[in-house]
Amino acid sequence: MSANEQMIYCVACGATNRVSAGKSLTAAKCGRCSKPLATPAPVDVNSEQFAALQAKDTGAYVLDVWAPWCGPCRMMAPHFEAAAARFSADVRFFKLNTDTNQAAAGLLQIRGVPTLIARKGGRVVAHEAGAKTGAALDNWIQTSLKVTSKAN
Ligand SMILES: [Zn+2]
Repeated sequence: MSANEQMIYCVACGATNRVSAGKSLTAAKCGRCSKPLATPAPVDVNSEQFAALQAKDTGAYVLDVWAPWCGPCRMMAPHFEAAAARFSADVRFFKLNTDTNQAAAGLLQIRGVPTLIARKGGRVVAHEAGAKTGAALDNWIQTSLKVTSKAN
């Protein structure tokens, strides 16, 4: 793999796609199932999908580790959705429910929810507990992943 390519895991079918760096992921389609490799909305992943992302994916993404009973998680959710729409060309947004994916949450050493994890180049670039909203969330994404927001 060259530095100008990234490996993008398709959460719809499990295929790994080779995509040029800088190409819009919402415009890129999976070579196997033809679904877009990114959507302007967060996508729920389970433990198996997240394990595959960790093992195979070198693109930029943010994981919201949350739980249904968590008030700050629910408070952050619409802000996470808004950020997903703004950054969807460059960053994918995933949500992992700790209640239904306790094994993955354990491996991630989650001590509280929500926790935000940003990954790029196959490694963690930021891992932070606590809800983030509005400009603070956008700034965290921009700083962690070196991307810029698209205007609404
Ligand atoms: Zn696919």
